Amino acid sequence: MKTFEEDLFLSLRSFPIRLEKIYGKSFLKIKDLIYGLIRVEEGKKWIVLGEKREVLRDPFTGRCYHQAQTLKVCDLDWENTQVLMELFPFTRPKSLKEFPITFGTGDRLGLATPGHIRAIRKFEIRPVLAQQSVRENNQTGRDFKKVIQDAAWAVIQERYESGYGADGDHLKSLQEVKEALNAGVSMITLDLSERLSPEAFFYSREELEKRFEREIEEEDRKVLLHLFLDKEFLFEGPDGFSIQYTEEEVKRNALLFHKGIDFSEETYEFLLKRTGRKPLIDFEISIDETPFPTSLANHLFLILNLLHRGVHIDSLALRFIGEFQKGIDYRGETRDFRKHFSQHRWIAKSYGDYKLSIHSGSDKFSLYPHIGELSQGRLHLKTAGTSWLEALRLISLVHPSLFREMVHIALTKFEEASQLYYVTADLKKIPKPEHLADRDLSQLLEQEDARQLLHITYGFLLKSPLRDRIFKTLTEHEEDYWTLLQHHIERHLNALGLKKGE
Ligand code: ZN
Repeated sequence: MKTFEEDLFLSLRSFPIRLEKIYGKSFLKIKDLIYGLIRVEEGKKWIVLGEKREVLRDPFTGRCYHQAQTLKVCDLDWENTQVLMELFPFTRPKSLKEFPITFGTGDRLGLATPGHIRAIRKFEIRPVLAQQSVRENNQTGRDFKKVIQDAAWAVIQERYESGYGADGDHLKSLQEVKEALNAGVSMITLDLSERLSPEAFFYSREELEKRFEREIEEEDRKVLLHLFLDKEFLFEGPDGFSIQYTEEEVKRNALLFHKGIDFSEETYEFLLKRTGRKPLIDFEISIDETPFPTSLANHLFLILNLLHRGVHIDSLALRFIGEFQKGIDYRGETRDFRKHFSQHRWIAKSYGDYKLSIHSGSDKFSLYPHIGELSQGRLHLKTAGTSWLEALRLISLVHPSLFREMVHIALTKFEEASQLYYVTADLKKIPKPEHLADRDLSQLLEQEDARQLLHITYGFLLKSPLRDRIFKTLTEHEEDYWTLLQHHIERHLNALGLKKGE
């Protein structure tokens, strides 16, 4: 018996296209038309196949070939992406508010998402498949539209119909929020870091009084003191705890946060105006890139002020104690982390049960069992660079000479790249790739200093003359790349102790 794919292969063979591959799962039949993804010499294409009249009437734009049947070959461009989302609504990003556990999988290359889907669909969680920050887009030469477009076609390729999110990550201005929304994101992560004044914790008493009077309006000063002074905020939990503020602490927190709180309110009101009373946009606030770990008093101060202004959040990214560096395991005391995380989780639970969002969440294998346990079933976790590192692993296995060239470029760009990302890699500890045998090259991806080096230099590598060879290698070996990714992401999800689904 012939399979569907063999059949299709035969009927496509009569057309003058250089067919290389059929993505079987993507194929659907609606009325008399067949839709699906194929690869031809020029790249991945969407096709529409059927009777001439029907194909011409169909809304996708492409080049038509007429034989006994008509074949339309369409580019995966923005216009066709819009038609795809209209016809198959599961390819459009959507709010994931109702799902308690969500997992962000930034796909910097626009090639990784099928591997992410293959891992995630085995668990009872929902993915934020499109998740890029402005910083990442600047490094990779993409924009929010391109990011969502790549995710949408991966979703149809894998026929993932459960729904996925798209996160405009680390947005720092209303202008960036608008750009992300115009592209169709379903989630906004508002980064307050540029509006925070951590120096408020180092002002002298005199300076503190002066600035509190000068920077904060009289009405707000009264509200703040009323909200926080002479109160004891009690929290449950296995080791119940309470938070109290002195007048000095209220003032320091006020100066730390007030511009950030104004910005959050302004953005939230904009979202409400744009999407109606119940915003269909998931709203995350991030203060993870501050110079010190978020204290319980900082967290409570921020959330009570947001609620007082009518701002409701779906998730909050704090800076946790210890070090969450890119692409490597946690550095710090697990016992301290447990207490810190658990207490923050109780604050979140008490004021709207929003999720704690863990940034630089990949590769924290020693912490996952604890995070899984203490998050009490509500969590958002973001990963991104680790999928890029898996791409490098693939290249080291199938194209050692290209990998050596990449390491070489990365080494010369480390200085510049570490202006953008905080890492502590010591280049002297990295084995020289020219001293490693081909089969040992991938060991560099197990070595923390090399991981960090390769993690943060992605932008330089993608802008280097190696760019085309990197993409070509990954595309030629895409199934192997997706298998590596699937296993790698599954390792994360298993370590978190998440429930299996499907
Ligand atoms: Zn972050």
